[in-house]
Amino acid sequence: MRISAVEPFILHLPLTSDSISDSTHSITHWGVVGAKITTTDGLEGYGFTGTHAHLPSDRLITACIRDCYGPLLVGEDASDHQRLWTKLARHPALQWVGRAGITHLALAAVDVALWDLAAKNAGAPLWSLLGGARTEALEAYNTDIGWLSFSKDALLAGSARAIEEEGFTRVKIKVGHDDPNIDIERLEAVRKRVGSAIRIAIDANGKWDLPTCQRFCARAKDLDIYWFEEPMWYDDVASHAALARNTSIPVALGEQLYTIDAFRSFISAGAVHYVQPDVTRLGGITEYIQVADLALANRLPVVPHAGEMSQVHVHLSYWHAASTILEYIPWIKDHFQEPANVESGLFMRPQQPGASTTPLPQAFDRYGVYE
Ligand SMILES: [Mg+2]
Repeated sequence: MRISAVEPFILHLPLTSDSISDSTHSITHWGVVGAKITTTDGLEGYGFTGTHAHLPSDRLITACIRDCYGPLLVGEDASDHQRLWTKLARHPALQWVGRAGITHLALAAVDVALWDLAAKNAGAPLWSLLGGARTEALEAYNTDIGWLSFSKDALLAGSARAIEEEGFTRVKIKVGHDDPNIDIERLEAVRKRVGSAIRIAIDANGKWDLPTCQRFCARAKDLDIYWFEEPMWYDDVASHAALARNTSIPVALGEQLYTIDAFRSFISAGAVHYVQPDVTRLGGITEYIQVADLALANRLPVVPHAGEMSQVHVHLSYWHAASTILEYIPWIKDHFQEPANVESGLFMRPQQPGASTTPLPQAFDRYGVYE
């Protein structure tokens, strides 16, 4: 299984709405920026990271895949993915310019493609290659009904539809208005509409500061919030540790963290309760497993960021012992050979060999962005 070619690709896929916003980001498309790795025996592995479909920065990632990692991989045995991860991540010149950011997003794409190859070579879905499923039923929570840009009426209608028509028992609502009282009003309306049995998580996407979060949590304490995600600036360990000590609402974070070292800092400070790694921002599946093991050793639940948007998290959540529930944002799944579908609030377990990361040919035809 020698690597014969490493080719980058870019897909800009439309969302389920014309556009969405959280407290920090506004987007119209999702960028699937990835690597196709071909072997001498004809196998093709696919892996990708996720972006805001911003072509200039997407091209930095594809340049890294093609020009920096490609020459290091061609001729190598694709099944040596642990050694190859170290070869790429610890390459002195590349480590010098980036232990996070563009080089790490590109590393994620390449690493996932190598795991996809390993599973295809074994003729097994990734969760089976890794050791089998821990559960028969992986529960989904719906984020796509809760964007900050949605009106209160749309928020209530979407929540009701997800619960009453689609079978979800969990939703996530974005918060982070300049005036947090607006968020309290929206959350009170959702809680009243969906009832006490539904789990409601919230997500501020790093918007607020510590005093704002403390006042907000005091007002939200009777709303039975399942977790408060990214309340403050992504890298601020001390403030998250202070909030975690001072509120009864559990803290969730991790989607903006690039390395196991960053996760260790938050976990050892007691600054996170729900650990949210993402294969597309960490250095792929290889580093995700290290983070999930770290969480397990600290008896903390793992809830991967952007759920099925990586396709891979469905496999990892069916397999890893620290996994619990998984996010659902159905923007990209239908462009893949094996979509990460949800039925009655549960993720379908993947059945095809590989990591479910192979795009459909028509996705390239219709949404491929060529340089
Ligand atoms: Mg989030």
